[in-house]
Amino acid sequence: MSIPPGTRTKLCGFGRYPTITGRLVAARDRAELSAVLQAEPSLIARGNGRSYGDAALNADCVVSMLGLNRFVDFDAATGVLVCEAGILLAEILQVMVPRGWFPPVSPGTQYVTVGGMVAADVHGKNAHRDGTFGQYVEWLELMQQDGTIKRCSRTRYPAWLHATIGGMGLTGVIVTVAFRMIAIRTAWIHRELYTAVGLGAAMELLDRHAGRHYTAAWVDCHARGKALGRAVLFCGEHAEVAALPPGTAALHIPQRWTATVPLTPPCSLLSGFCGRLFNELYYPLNRLKVRQQLVDYQRFFYPLDAITGWHRLYGPRGFCQYQCVFPDATSHRGVRAVLQAQAASGQASPLAVLKRLSAGSGLMSFAMPGYTLAMDYVASESTFTLFRSLDAIVAEHGGRIYLAKDSRADEIAAGYPVEQFRHFRKAVDMRFNSLLAERLRL
Ligand SMILES: Cc1cc2nc3c(=O)[nH]c(=O)nc-3n(C[C@H](O)[C@H](O)[C@H](O)COP(=O)(O)OP(=O)(O)OC[C@H]3O[C@@H](n4cnc5c(N)ncnc54)[C@H](O)[C@@H]3O)c2cc1C
Repeated sequence: MSIPPGTRTKLCGFGRYPTITGRLVAARDRAELSAVLQAEPSLIARGNGRSYGDAALNADCVVSMLGLNRFVDFDAATGVLVCEAGILLAEILQVMVPRGWFPPVSPGTQYVTVGGMVAADVHGKNAHRDGTFGQYVEWLELMQQDGTIKRCSRTRYPAWLHATIGGMGLTGVIVTVAFRMIAIRTAWIHRELYTAVGLGAAMELLDRHAGRHYTAAWVDCHARGKALGRAVLFCGEHAEVAALPPGTAALHIPQRWTATVPLTPPCSLLSGFCGRLFNELYYPLNRLKVRQQLVDYQRFFYPLDAITGWHRLYGPRGFCQYQCVFPDATSHRGVRAVLQAQAASGQASPLAVLKRLSAGSGLMSFAMPGYTLAMDYVASESTFTLFRSLDAIVAEHGGRIYLAKDSRADEIAAGYPVEQFRHFRKAVDMRFNSLLAERLRL
């Protein structure tokens, strides 16, 4: 068994805050992975680094799973796909969409691995209706530090499955995942668009459209007073063949327009004046847009993926996302208080999304029935001061912050069953560790 050599390199999440110099080891197969796990006293698995903060960082050893990216099996009768955990969602879409299959849950980017989707128990635009990714996992194989593999399902090692879904890589390394896909007839989405003059109207729209397959609202964080929380709501359904214009290929979509941000600008081009201008224009322009439209699935689910490196536009300091969820009973008050606090701080997120969630499927899943709000800010002292005040609002309303997005909280909100998770890790002598886990004493 050979241990692949590691490289010392700069490592960070998608937000580029924090950045550390650490050792990255790339495993190409199970044997190499097993050798690394047995040799390293402390390590964490890394997918494609699309979590924003320090969830996939460890000062001693980070194991890249991108080399374990093979399709293993597909059963067209049940829709169950078996694949290695390092495969990208983008690779799955490329192969499966032309065959009429779609992931049951998809985050806002396709450049995530299946292992990362399980570890964060990701939610998508259908979270209000269909839950989170973990719900569709039939079984997964988890490698332990001694190199042995546990196949976990709802009947075998169910506690391990429950702790691994949403467990942020802290229960072992996910090697293989079997999950259910959904059948589609076209690669097109029938999109509807609505505008809401303020937060109350936006939440009412999301509630009214809760029966739709996909819903999500963009929120203008620059709006104040009565317009606080004004929003554009997007709803979507998978289109039927009969709805496509004649001659349209049902399961193939046209080549997409793409661009690249080649360099990091010396200052943020997304906050301040530019962010305000974008938000000032986005809302009125969407009021003028066609309300119903057929768009390809790439445009509907992954609009930002068309611009490689768009996050560089936040400038050299990097950026942080604040994503919180509030339970149903406190959602309205909680989301309003968060928007008011950021308005009072004089800062405004250039991009913000409001969604309705239902329960997650893992012990440490972020999702719960209620509303979630996600907002981006340049990493700075004033941002961290704002985030601390938002943490207090989240704690007061029984909410949670999303671990896949967090990079700086020093307490984990009481909304997580954290003692149970710590107990599980202690009981099985867990040495998988990340900066996130150290920071939050998981
Ligand atoms: C533009 C953008 C939009 C996003 N939209 C959404 C969204 O709508 N909904 C949502 O829920 N999330 C969203 N995310 C977050 C993203 O889906 C999660 O952070 C996901 O975990 C990233 O997957 P990854 O493969 O890049 O994992 P990484 O970022 O590399 O790792 C994330 C976590 O998973 C663990 N992990 C990764 N692979 C394994 C493995 N094989 N075994 C064990 N643990 C593993 C890591 O240890 C780490 O704790 C978004 C991110 C971006 C950048």
